Amino acid sequence: MQQDKQQKTDSNNGTNNGGQQMTSYHASLDDFRSSKQRGGGGRPSTSRWPQNSQNQPRSNRRERFNSNRNRSSQSNGQKFAHENASRGEMVTFRGSKTLKICHLGGLEEVGRNMCFLEYGNDILILDAGFSFPSDDMPGVDYVIPDVSYLQENKSRIKAIVLTHGHMDHIGAIPYIMEKLGNPVVYGTNLTLGILKEKLEEFGMVNRVKTVVINPEKDELKLGNFKVGFFRVNHNIPDTVGLVIDTPSGKVVHTADFKFDLTPINEPVIDLGRVAEIGKNGVLALLIDSTGARNPGYAISESEIKSNLKDLFAKTKGRIFISSFSTLISRVQQIIDVTAEANRSLTITGRSMIATVEVASKLGYLKLPKELILTSQQAARIPEDKLVVLSTGTQGEDSSALTRMSRGEHKFFKIKKGDTVILSSSIIPGNETKVVEVYDNLLRAGAKVIDYKQMDIHTSGHAHQEELKTMMRLFNPKHIIPVHGNRYMRQANAELGYAVGVPEENVWVVDNGEVVELSETRSEKMRLKVPTSFVLVDGLGVGDVGNIVLRDRQAMAEGGIFCVILTVDHQTSQIVTSPDIISRGFVYMRAAEDLIHRARQEVKNIFRRQIAGRPADWSYIKTTLREEIGEFLFNETKRRPMVIPVIIEV
Ligand SMILES: [Zn+2]
Ligand SMILES: [Zn+2]
Repeated sequence: MQQDKQQKTDSNNGTNNGGQQMTSYHASLDDFRSSKQRGGGGRPSTSRWPQNSQNQPRSNRRERFNSNRNRSSQSNGQKFAHENASRGEMVTFRGSKTLKICHLGGLEEVGRNMCFLEYGNDILILDAGFSFPSDDMPGVDYVIPDVSYLQENKSRIKAIVLTHGHMDHIGAIPYIMEKLGNPVVYGTNLTLGILKEKLEEFGMVNRVKTVVINPEKDELKLGNFKVGFFRVNHNIPDTVGLVIDTPSGKVVHTADFKFDLTPINEPVIDLGRVAEIGKNGVLALLIDSTGARNPGYAISESEIKSNLKDLFAKTKGRIFISSFSTLISRVQQIIDVTAEANRSLTITGRSMIATVEVASKLGYLKLPKELILTSQQAARIPEDKLVVLSTGTQGEDSSALTRMSRGEHKFFKIKKGDTVILSSSIIPGNETKVVEVYDNLLRAGAKVIDYKQMDIHTSGHAHQEELKTMMRLFNPKHIIPVHGNRYMRQANAELGYAVGVPEENVWVVDNGEVVELSETRSEKMRLKVPTSFVLVDGLGVGDVGNIVLRDRQAMAEGGIFCVILTVDHQTSQIVTSPDIISRGFVYMRAAEDLIHRARQEVKNIFRRQIAGRPADWSYIKTTLREEIGEFLFNETKRRPMVIPVIIEV
């Protein structure tokens, strides 16, 4: 569990947002990765959390208020899904001779990206990622897509095709594979390498069939679908866009992408192939929206390198540099710049070490052996010869950087003369923790440099000019902006209008909404596919639902107040004075008077309820809960969760 929590914050960030925090948050989820340090284990049980529940997390409710255009239809769809669910039926498009495109996640968040295409009797799944819980989901590790529709139709699933190895695209796979009947998973070499490392943690590596594809050559025939690939740039190598031929027409998915004409360790985006695909006509383009609010072009990874190089050249003492482990291009730059500066590198932190191992084993990282030192060796070399690479840019409690900043690291303690470089942006919500690390580093005497002071971090997602170029090259009839909250997708839609796609052909839809396309017809269906949150907490998948979560929220906000009454079962009289146990409500010793009066109140309520009638314990408990709650509120203006317990002796 401890490891899980640590892992949860060990995320990657792929955005140079020029101070636009919201954008950076989303990119960061995207770049999250797993590592061996996560606890594995079996993943049983399922329950769904209806999206229109009142107990839905606030952040999502907020997001829903932003979704004005689709609100009415959404509530219809939602209702339908529920009516169906209550009759034990599920929406199905089986046998339909038009193309259906539906997202189970990724359209109201950046995270848990998952989409499926359906035609006739065939279903094709694209990506299956997770996202992080919002603040009001205490204790939850991840949120994964609701796959109940696919589960219901699993015999028709042809395959899962992956675009790249970030956790918001592959992170849900271990949790859903069994439910989907273990379809074959296709992806590039690095993507499947990272997936396998994750499957290994779950002991599932032998149960999931994976097939490595060659994006230059391969074309997959999967029922009614024919899937081809084209290389794009992102901040992890081996990212591919998808060209899917369907009987209704050609669908293109850009994956997470940017144009990088000078990428690190990978070929340049294949614009020739993009143009060629566009020439033959594209029915629908599904396009990354994460950077749609950023003007201009994303900075090349190589530009970051020259900035890092200057910085390394100027620095005299030790250099500590932090980034995210799946920002493999960034890690490569750090390795290169270290070598060019005649320094040695030591890597600290388990997730960083694990990713570097997988990526270099598969040839996506060039890591000269002689460059790397163990922490023990590193502690002995001259200070101006050392670079220490770690994770920890989000102030994660157990990360190497946080420990170093507090002077708790086994080998490295930050001191005057050190330079610390944070090569990523901050995920909103982590600011306080980052500020604490920042303060500690400065207090220890280090010089700290982050992306706001220098271009030492860039986005992995296309900015406006790149998005428009992609739209022009593919020249699609329809555009479906994907990968991002409503406000990002709306910004992307505006770009679509700008390049001349008619407004009625740009589909800003929400999770679960189904776009139906053919050459002659296009509409958003009235029906919705269920897209509830499925929460992962420790070994449980889906077992934490709205009731458990509501209790956690109530306890987190008001604490608990437990009243234990021991009652004679013959006379129904209280045997001893009521016991009161409380946590997170008041400090009991300092509130003796309140507790004393509460005890009296309990006795009074009990006597009133018991007077002259047979004891109905459940009614008495309800009354106690309500009236003690009221009493405590009047006394303190706080609302702890009141738990009455009656023990008969
Ligand atoms: Zn992503
Ligand atoms: Zn990504």
